[in-house]
Amino acid sequence: MQELKALCMACRDAKNKPTMQVMNDPKVTEKNNRFSAKGKCAKCGGNMFKFLSKDDAAKLK
Ligand SMILES: [Zn+2]
Repeated sequence: MQELKALCMACRDAKNKPTMQVMNDPKVTEKNNRFSAKGKCAKCGGNMFKFLSKDDAAKLK
């Protein structure tokens, strides 16, 4: 499984913008041929969500 990074809405930088963080325990779901991953931020433990390409989804399985 490859490392997945996503924007975390809770981990913000000095300019108060969401930052990219590693997603722990990503779960890939498919809906209407659109792939997405849900997981937890490695830094703060908050919930994360990211849309994936089909290739990305295949790599995570
Ligand atoms: Zn976070």
